[in-house]
Amino acid sequence: PTLAYLENTPSSKQFLEEAKTVMPGGVTANIKHFDPHPIIMKHGKGSIVTDVDNNKYIDYLMSYGSLVTGHGHETIKQAINAQMVEDGTWLFGTPHHLEVEFGKRLQNYFPSLERLRYTNSGTEATLLALRLAAAYTGKHKVAKFEGHYHGGYDQMLVSVNPPVDLAGEEHAPNALPESKGMHESHVENTLILPFNDLNACEDLLRAHRNEIGAVMMEPVQGGIIPADVAFMRGLRKVTRELGIILIFDEVKTGFRLGLGGAQTRFDITPDLTTLGKAIGGGFPIGVVGGRKDIMMNSAPSSGADVFDSSQSKYFSAKDVLFHSGTYNGQPMILAAGMAVINILEKEINSVMEKTNRLKEGINHIFDYYGVEGGTVGIGSIFSVTLTNKEKISNYRDLQQTDLATRKEIDFRLLQKGIYTKPMNRFSVSTSHTDEDVDETLIAFDQVFQEVFEGSR
Ligand code: PMP
Repeated sequence: PTLAYLENTPSSKQFLEEAKTVMPGGVTANIKHFDPHPIIMKHGKGSIVTDVDNNKYIDYLMSYGSLVTGHGHETIKQAINAQMVEDGTWLFGTPHHLEVEFGKRLQNYFPSLERLRYTNSGTEATLLALRLAAAYTGKHKVAKFEGHYHGGYDQMLVSVNPPVDLAGEEHAPNALPESKGMHESHVENTLILPFNDLNACEDLLRAHRNEIGAVMMEPVQGGIIPADVAFMRGLRKVTRELGIILIFDEVKTGFRLGLGGAQTRFDITPDLTTLGKAIGGGFPIGVVGGRKDIMMNSAPSSGADVFDSSQSKYFSAKDVLFHSGTYNGQPMILAAGMAVINILEKEINSVMEKTNRLKEGINHIFDYYGVEGGTVGIGSIFSVTLTNKEKISNYRDLQQTDLATRKEIDFRLLQKGIYTKPMNRFSVSTSHTDEDVDETLIAFDQVFQEVFEGSR
């Protein structure tokens, strides 16, 4: 498949060479690279993307799940235009009405967001959530789960994708840095928990209860591996008992498991929630929200500037939590977010139905060719795994699947016009049609025939 790939994407290769003269590796995020070279896209409309060699693909990357309404949706375009016309600007730098309007729409679907703040990305949202938790509890260490991603900063860039041979005990994983340039001390403030293992988590949290201020989790790891409901309930209970803030990072799951995210679907109320990706319809956004008593630490009215008479000067009060951002609550992005909600209110069920039909079809193809494995995932995101395990419960299970064959399948799918970044997830959008699903299943069938029956 690599040879065919090279033959079909010569301009992508050429573009990448040029891009390398501007950006390290030719990319603005390492994740955008894959060998032998990434495909460079130039156009997207609905479910279809076109690359610089004019190959067309049904897009299932959907910008890592962000484009829940697909590319270039007319309703979103209109919402952005209307916003610009109405207010005549795209940035106030002052409070404005859409911040409240969009916030109320979010609160309607996420009742746990008693108060919320906007950020520019999921990364910023989780960073702020950690500061809020630390301010509230006075405890500065954080627990996260092996294999979970919350952003690329030092405290959370720990054991996201660790080499299994260095990852340590399954029940008490090592904390491993994921980047050059991180100091050993960075990992000391992060406790790594094993996902879906309640007993081990309880033991670890009890042992570190005096230092750990927050547990942050993806309720559905990578958007595909759900926490067992009993696990989430148990974690909710033990964190409450130990005075630890439970943060659901729903950057991926918000608007993809339903409009109320994982917390609504599983009926668990976290203390804090982070949102991002799909809620902005493809524009940069993040949200942190949750319990009023925690969120109010960031309210300026609790005495932002205090007069220190000993120095005859005003100082920012230490008891107020700092949160800022030039672009927080950017009006066009919030208008896009409102449009996303409007679209999903009508169409989310059909996205789920299409996803389910696609998953069932792929699982059927696995069965037909006698291949062990199938799809994993809930909501409108899933992955495809080759494994004889009945159930994938965590990062280590996923690492033990047949990744080499999965990669081969992905490269062959690319040749047949089905795009996701090799080894990545499949995200379905409102713009995917029934015909897209049919075409995708036909491509899967052909690829399985090639790979598992050797015909070409
Ligand atoms: N949390 C989760 C669960 C995510 O999937 C991501 C992005 N992959 C982030 C946080 C970071 O979001 P962003 O890329 O917008 O900074």
